[in-house]
Amino acid sequence: MLNTLRKIVQEVNSAKDLKTALGIIVLRVKEAMGSQVCSVYLLDPETNRFVLMATEGLNKRSIGKVSMAPNEGLVGLVGTREEPLNLENAADHPRYRYFAETGEEKFASFLGAPIIHHRRVVGVLVIQQKERRQFDEGEEAFLVTMSAQLAGVIAHAEATGSIRGLGRQGKGIQEARFVGVPGSPGAAVGRAVVMLPPADLEVVPDKTVEDIDNELKLFSNALEGVREDMRKLSAKLATQLRPEERALFDVYLMMLEDAALGGEVMAVIKTGQWAQGALRQVVGEHVNRFELMDDDYLRERASDVKDLGRRLLAYLQEARSQSLVYQDNTILVSEELTPAMLGEVPEGKLVGLVSVLGSGNSHVAILARAMGIPTVMGLVDLPYSKVDGIEMIVDGYKGEVYTNPGEVLRKQYSDVVEEERQLAKGLDALRELPCITPDGHRMPLWVNTGLLADVARAQQRGAEGVGLYRTEVPFMINQRFPSEKEQLAIYREQLQAFHPLPVTMRTLDIGGDKALSYFPIKEENPFLGWRGIRVTLDHPEIFLVQTRAMLKASEGLNNLRILLPMISGIHELEEALHLIHRAWGEVRDEGTDVPMPPVGVMVEIPAAVYQTKELARQVDFLSVGSNDLTQYLLAVDRNNPRVADLYDYLHPAVLQALNTVVRDAHGEGKPVSICGEMAGDPAAAILLMAMGFDSLSMNATNLPKVKWMLRQVNMGKAKELLAEALSHDNPQVIHSSLQLALKNLGLARMIGPEANKTL
Ligand code: PEP
Ligand code: MG
Repeated sequence: MLNTLRKIVQEVNSAKDLKTALGIIVLRVKEAMGSQVCSVYLLDPETNRFVLMATEGLNKRSIGKVSMAPNEGLVGLVGTREEPLNLENAADHPRYRYFAETGEEKFASFLGAPIIHHRRVVGVLVIQQKERRQFDEGEEAFLVTMSAQLAGVIAHAEATGSIRGLGRQGKGIQEARFVGVPGSPGAAVGRAVVMLPPADLEVVPDKTVEDIDNELKLFSNALEGVREDMRKLSAKLATQLRPEERALFDVYLMMLEDAALGGEVMAVIKTGQWAQGALRQVVGEHVNRFELMDDDYLRERASDVKDLGRRLLAYLQEARSQSLVYQDNTILVSEELTPAMLGEVPEGKLVGLVSVLGSGNSHVAILARAMGIPTVMGLVDLPYSKVDGIEMIVDGYKGEVYTNPGEVLRKQYSDVVEEERQLAKGLDALRELPCITPDGHRMPLWVNTGLLADVARAQQRGAEGVGLYRTEVPFMINQRFPSEKEQLAIYREQLQAFHPLPVTMRTLDIGGDKALSYFPIKEENPFLGWRGIRVTLDHPEIFLVQTRAMLKASEGLNNLRILLPMISGIHELEEALHLIHRAWGEVRDEGTDVPMPPVGVMVEIPAAVYQTKELARQVDFLSVGSNDLTQYLLAVDRNNPRVADLYDYLHPAVLQALNTVVRDAHGEGKPVSICGEMAGDPAAAILLMAMGFDSLSMNATNLPKVKWMLRQVNMGKAKELLAEALSHDNPQVIHSSLQLALKNLGLARMIGPEANKTL
């Protein structure tokens, strides 16, 4: 059964549009189940009716014509109850409704299963039989499994159609809306540029080209490149492989010949398809044929063809990236955005970012916020590989994207973009003013940095220090571990730029969603695994080189502070302190005269909250990482869009934890700051100030908004708001009461459209 399911899903997945996909579904399911009818009804969101979209067995002329409301017929019943319905004789059921045009009077038994995608009923899958009989449990299970698998496939096929401007019935439509999660606030209108993962054939889209000769040339260059690689590889392995094993390379070379795969791809290119699309098509056909074979040996051959396809694609992609020209108003779209990708688009051309994977607190979203680029994450239903060149709107407040926007929508969003520009301009005037409440409480605002561009931005916005320099960012952009000398240069630049203001450098915090291409970590639960200090304590050579570079970089400047991430207990802190002292001794022995810098611990794991006092006794300062603290307190993966709704730093448990940390740190006479994204939320910043945090560290983009807000709110009022927030046990109530209070104070402006997310 699993094999049949797999084959059907695979075949449906390669369908070019919704109509074809549904056609395959009804045909194959009918065959697999041996039924006389199989039909798919989809819920039309506009009319709220289940419409017959495809059938095998009923009268095909009724497709698109027969429809029923959710309170009509058996299909409506399956859809509203969200449960399968298995009837020996459909006509006996009180909800049975007869549609003459389908010719269904001939069929007695009925089995329907709802098709549910992301909690929403999108349709109903039905099979029918002439004879009166109850379908057995196995058949019911098959249909339910089938419809669960098809839900995503149908959503994908529908989305692909709408990207091309096609509605369900194949008619032209205007815009399509895709819902993800907010990544970075702001709105953008522009054109999509898709960044495909390297050498992933499955996501290569179709594209028609004018210059066929150029595509043919690109492809023959790629062929030549792969041929050469094969020859070299074969020669290199000559002594290690037996002749029969080396014969595989000859097979590869043969496949590349004009009479084989090479020639087939050329033929497709000649029809006007670009080389990458032609390659995907031809390789896909071969792979499908092999994979559907029952013979194990032949099925294995599919992987050889795939491998060859990937090698050819890598050459074609390299040629494309060298010639890619980014337009103004580029919206970068990718399955999984990475920090390195953000640097690909030249300064000033990037207006928006879209990622299929990841969530609002993924690190790439944090960087996007620092850059002030509107971003939508977790857009799981977007057929991203098909949107290249399409006009798009990114709404980073609501976490939505529109493709092919109409005139009205485009105008509406262009106005929002302009309003934001004006608002940012107005805030520029705050730069030289201190962050002080009307009743005289001084709140130092620091900045989080990582990207080189953050330095200039921080200075423009009047930051009073760096509360978090994410050293992993330069590591991630590199192709290998940077040497001590290279790190020294990078850190010195950062320390010098802010001197005499303090710069808090965090030791390498990789793992979780921060991967180094040259140091891969593959784990089942990366956020509970080898992350942050756990990695660097296991690799003291990395830790020592980094701290030595930091210490040397601070020579003569003395504005360095060192911060340790992911500390879960005293033993880790003691080990890290021991290594820092060792590095300090070494550096001084080498003749660099630097004082021991202040060392701090991040409080971002619940265990650290309960050990604030013990940790505080051994360090000079504490800094709360509310991003991870929220994730670990609430057990919500910050990188997973499915649970993004549950991720909430105003949750009562998080507020209580933060309050405890401040109280206990101050009890030991140690200052405590906060450097998670929460500190950059103007409304949350009021509560943090009231808790007694000694400084707030945030991205430079949000700093002026927080400053504006704190300059309006008395400390007395902030304490009242905190007391009220702490009195509620429901996160939603905390959000709405805070929002209401700020509205009443006439401060809604700065929570503006962002209120959708943060409040
Ligand atoms: C945090 O966890 O809040 C934090 C500041 O660190 P990062 O976001 O880099 O994990
Ligand atoms: Mg963290």
